[in-house]
Amino acid sequence: MKKLALLLLLLFADCKRAVPPGRVVLVPIGPVPANVLADLQRGLAPILKREITIGDEVPLPPAGFDASRNQYVANALLEQLERNDVADASRVVGIIDRDVYAPGLNYVFGQARLPGRFAVVALPRLRQSLRARPEDAARFRERILKITIHELGHTFGFVHCPDRKCVMHFSNAIGEADYSGVQYCDNEQRQEAK
Ligand SMILES: [Zn+2]
Ligand SMILES: [Zn+2]
Repeated sequence: MKKLALLLLLLFADCKRAVPPGRVVLVPIGPVPANVLADLQRGLAPILKREITIGDEVPLPPAGFDASRNQYVANALLEQLERNDVADASRVVGIIDRDVYAPGLNYVFGQARLPGRFAVVALPRLRQSLRARPEDAARFRERILKITIHELGHTFGFVHCPDRKCVMHFSNAIGEADYSGVQYCDNEQRQEAK
């Protein structure tokens, strides 16, 4: 708990930083459907107003796989991105089509360095079909977009936002992510404008 308080304090101290301009690269970690990456690239550009490119696939890190859970641990994925850094990119977002967890959590939709250059977004839990409903391509696309913008927000130093319509609102369950918008609200815009 003390650690968390310290982390929040550090985040708060840092959240006034301006968002640096620069390219965001989407890096598939293991196989990711090409249309998922292309749709995300198209969706991000008008919202972030910066160049979005798709990088080369990097391998799934064997050391990051927890066979007992059939999941990858988020931190190992961030480390894999660091090892395969795209040096001239401002931000690197790993996209993985495997289930991901973080210690203390059953699963995560994504994780990011706070603040930093690296984030990761995991696709399986964002699929409608996981909840025994028919696949909904538009909703799947929108969820990937929201989680990516949320995790990128953390790399910019943004903390969780109390506004439930804000993309930086914390999503415990996918229904909450569905409720939020895709944009940072005024709370974050103020930080960005500096
Ligand atoms: Zn978050
Ligand atoms: Zn907000």
